[in-house]
Amino acid sequence: MFYFFSMPKGKNSLAPNPAEAPLVLSKTDGEKWDDEADVVVVGFGGAGACAALEASSNGARVLVLDRFHGGGATAISGGVYYAGGGTHIQSEAGVTDDADEMFRYLSLEVKGVVSEETLRDFCDTSVDSVTWLEEHGVPFEASLCPYKTSYPTDDYYLYYSGNEGFSPYKDAAKPAPRGHRAKGAGLPGESFYGPLRDSAQRAGIQVEYETRVTRLVVDAQNRVLGVEYRQIEKGLWSQLYRRLNQAGVKVVNYSPQLAANLRERCYQIEANSSAFGRRTAWSSRPVASSTTARW
Ligand SMILES: Cc1cc2nc3c(=O)[nH]c(=O)nc-3n(C[C@H](O)[C@H](O)[C@H](O)COP(=O)(O)OP(=O)(O)OC[C@H]3O[C@@H](n4cnc5c(N)ncnc54)[C@H](O)[C@@H]3O)c2cc1C
Repeated sequence: MFYFFSMPKGKNSLAPNPAEAPLVLSKTDGEKWDDEADVVVVGFGGAGACAALEASSNGARVLVLDRFHGGGATAISGGVYYAGGGTHIQSEAGVTDDADEMFRYLSLEVKGVVSEETLRDFCDTSVDSVTWLEEHGVPFEASLCPYKTSYPTDDYYLYYSGNEGFSPYKDAAKPAPRGHRAKGAGLPGESFYGPLRDSAQRAGIQVEYETRVTRLVVDAQNRVLGVEYRQIEKGLWSQLYRRLNQAGVKVVNYSPQLAANLRERCYQIEANSSAFGRRTAWSSRPVASSTTARW
């Protein structure tokens, strides 16, 4: 306990290395795994929740691991989902749009950072993505904001969230409002994330919280076999860890230094009170990760 309050600072910070090199196992190692799943999802924010739900609905046994208590940036975001191509929300608001116009506009915005194929798929499946989110409980509304704003008031939930109406964009693609804001007051990130989390719970998806993935486990051919993670002891330490992290997220905009101190205490708990070396294996299915999901 004394050590917990004498907090290391600066260069002595206990902040973990964000990306450790993979652990390479040869086939003969005969490793014992702590758990197995068809699909392991690292991170239970918006992307992880969507990936887990899709994998589960395709019959996979899914295990989700989250360093904190889920939600991530998604739960504190503005809850605006960029969608178009003629979503039913756009139609109800009297807006016409199609996937080609959306693609032309986004091509100018992303400037090749996203591959053409991925962007094309994003635009072509956009109408279905909104329906999919709604089926999992995410609420949208066809209340069109009549003026350009960086973020609408609580009266509006469909708006021009980008530069669609300005040159050179409007000359290349017919403008359409595509910012689909989840229904909820203020910054309704929780209105977007909460239903996905609840849907994952209803689907019986196993989620392990306060569990940080430290590195991938690969075989000699560099194929991913599983992950290694550290899990905070359940009980007092995991609850304290959760509360400290939640407090840090709440104050970070007003007092970054206090938030950094709270975070440092989380690192301390992780260093002193977590079980190390537990591994999870999956079978031959591809990995679902935060970077590949719909959000
Ligand atoms: C204030 C704010 C407002 C925003 N508003 C919008 C908006 O309106 N519209 C929009 O499109 N975007 C918005 N963004 C950006 C958007 O929130 C993010 O791009 C999006 O949430 C990323 O989703 P994600 O699931 O990839 O990550 P996250 O939601 O951040 O989830 C990542 C999860 O991974 C966990 N994790 C991290 N490392 C590990 C590890 N090693 N092991 C296990 N778990 C781990 C974290 O605990 C976290 O829960 C906003 C961002 C902020 C900060």
